[in-house]
Amino acid sequence: MQYALKQAQIAYDKDEVPIGAVIVENNKIIASAHNSNLLDCDATAHCEILAIRRACLYKNSPRLDNCDIYITVEPCAMCYSAISLAHIKRIYFAINDEKFGAISNNLKEFTQKLCYHQPEIYDGIAHSESKILLQNFFQIKRNKKNVKI
Ligand SMILES: [Zn+2]
Repeated sequence: MQYALKQAQIAYDKDEVPIGAVIVENNKIIASAHNSNLLDCDATAHCEILAIRRACLYKNSPRLDNCDIYITVEPCAMCYSAISLAHIKRIYFAINDEKFGAISNNLKEFTQKLCYHQPEIYDGIAHSESKILLQNFFQIKRNKKNVKI
């Protein structure tokens, strides 16, 4: 999770929403990414999607069986779907996302037959570090909005 936090910090430094992800296979990081929506001009450039694409290229396969993903924030519905489609074995994430999180919002498609593969889910790892990074980022954004010219 520390490597995912490093990715989140890189996103923070680039003024992107500070969320990072790494994909691990046999205790080895095979892909990492941070959110890159603004830089890539891409609404789908969430760290999970970018990391999955890189891991699939690395493995030369669309399937990531026996891989785990570490994410600094709970995945959204799009990313959860991608994680499921890639057959990632376990999801570890730092903080819940009550607003957009697929798991927190108990989206029905992920608990029913439409979801072909359901990864194991573990949360709360490095919770404080991830939360502080996000809070600082959004506090700065809010302060900038309040500056009157
Ligand atoms: Zn997402």
